Amino acid sequence: MAEEQTVDSVDETAIQDRHRHASDTHLRLPDRRLYIGGDWVAATGDETHTVTDPVTGDALLETARASPGDVNRAVEAAEAAFQNEWRDTSPADRQHALNAIRDTIASNADRLATIESLDTGKTISEARGDINAVVDDLEYFASIIRDYGGRTVPAAPGKQISTHREPYGVCALIVPWNFPLGIATWKLAPALAAGNTVVLKPAELTPLSVLELARLLDDTDAIPDGVINVLTGRGSVVGHELTTHPDVQKVSVTGSTGTGQAVMRDAAEQITELTLELGGKNPLIVFPDADIEHAASVATMASFNNAGENCTATSRLFVHESVRDAFLDAFVAETEALELGDPLLESTDVGSKIGRTEQQETLDYIESARESNATVLTGGGVPDDPKLATGCFVEPTIITDISDDHPVACEEIFGPVTALLEWSAYDDMVRRVNDNPFGLSAGIFASDVDDIYRTAGDLETGTIWVNQYLDFTPGLPFGGYKQSGIGRETAQETLDQYTQTKAIDIAIDPTSNT
Ligand code: NDP
Repeated sequence: MAEEQTVDSVDETAIQDRHRHASDTHLRLPDRRLYIGGDWVAATGDETHTVTDPVTGDALLETARASPGDVNRAVEAAEAAFQNEWRDTSPADRQHALNAIRDTIASNADRLATIESLDTGKTISEARGDINAVVDDLEYFASIIRDYGGRTVPAAPGKQISTHREPYGVCALIVPWNFPLGIATWKLAPALAAGNTVVLKPAELTPLSVLELARLLDDTDAIPDGVINVLTGRGSVVGHELTTHPDVQKVSVTGSTGTGQAVMRDAAEQITELTLELGGKNPLIVFPDADIEHAASVATMASFNNAGENCTATSRLFVHESVRDAFLDAFVAETEALELGDPLLESTDVGSKIGRTEQQETLDYIESARESNATVLTGGGVPDDPKLATGCFVEPTIITDISDDHPVACEEIFGPVTALLEWSAYDDMVRRVNDNPFGLSAGIFASDVDDIYRTAGDLETGTIWVNQYLDFTPGLPFGGYKQSGIGRETAQETLDQYTQTKAIDIAIDPTSNT
């Protein structure tokens, strides 16, 4: 009965009470357990970590910190499941398995969204959007795996050359804290579809939704034991051990560029195949002929969605000088209309940051802009509502009068802060946009088709949205140029990254002259 109540219908208004009610209703995870080989097992060491709600500071779960020995156990379980069962499944079997995961998630969407919101501080509507996207992604990979394979290579008469896409075996999937279930699924769906088994390592700060998925799947027969294993613990131990493990053939990480560099160094040990989705400092470019109201509205969502904790957040707005004032009027109005507050309330637009450290880092960026005499047009601090004092909130903040080389304008902030940088000459604007080590995503707002294609062609960027932003239709290859990473997720190409090519060259008539 309690499960059918929506969070808003609970007859308590205090944030603390609302959050406690939600965690009491939805959290059923065992404390200090790792999910290995289809069992919830104790870690071999006794180190633990307390997962907390960033809004209330309440403890949500005590997790085990997996040791190198636990990593070994999980990899052994995944390797056994690969060798004994999963590698021999047909694409149809794997399609059914993915569809079963999709159904499990879809029928527990409310529980998973609430857990995700409690764990990350993101709003309940954002969390619901993440779960819907997860369902769509699983459906996509479940369907395309039926039509995925190698090719025939043109060869001389008497010869037949073909390629075959084979799974790697055990894949380590290392996930950040901003989209815990979403990014885990971006990796899990193609890895399983391609015939691999996995060890998933959620971020220590936000493991709950991935653990809950394991718990829900454990109650079904959808996935054989050992195909999915989940280890909690620190990246520097669990992530490092997975990346250097001789039986892990493939590692996929989403995280900061520093983590990507550490993983690359570790992967060199066993020459392990990598996919890296790293940071971004994403531009949004507005041309004079753009629909300014629309551009400002999308910029608001693109800059402050997920409280700015988004690798695709637009934090450099290149607006043509002729439309600067009109854009800013609309952008400031839209931003000031955003409701900052309890993430569990349906009316909230902007939730909490993940923790105090991350809140302070964002505030420090804003302070550094003030010290450089930049203008903080709106936001710029923490909300003054005393009810929000226990949370890690930062107001959506727009900064102007700042130079391109100021840290606010060129470093990834990962908070709800964006800088307005106006432009006049096209070539100079493109040079400034590209003069950054990241190249993850960009938005272009314009009407002239020539301008759109020219700009899209000139940007050193992996994913470009035009007159829109953050459309993650499965099939769109997502990933970055330069220090934003290696590889593409959510698309057909992703299957290439979870398989290796075997070429078979047959002499049908060995005596024929080739
Ligand atoms: P981190 O880089 O700190 O962590 C990402 C994951 O890597 C976590 O699970 C972490 O473990 C783990 N990790 C840390 N060190 C190592 C290591 N040496 N070896 C293996 N694994 C390790 O990123 P955040 O979690 O702080 O996420 C924010 C960052 O992720 C931002 O910079 C953002 O841009 C980027 N990001 C990129 C996206 C993309 O698609 N390009 C999407 C979302 C985020 P733990 O934290 O448990 O110690």
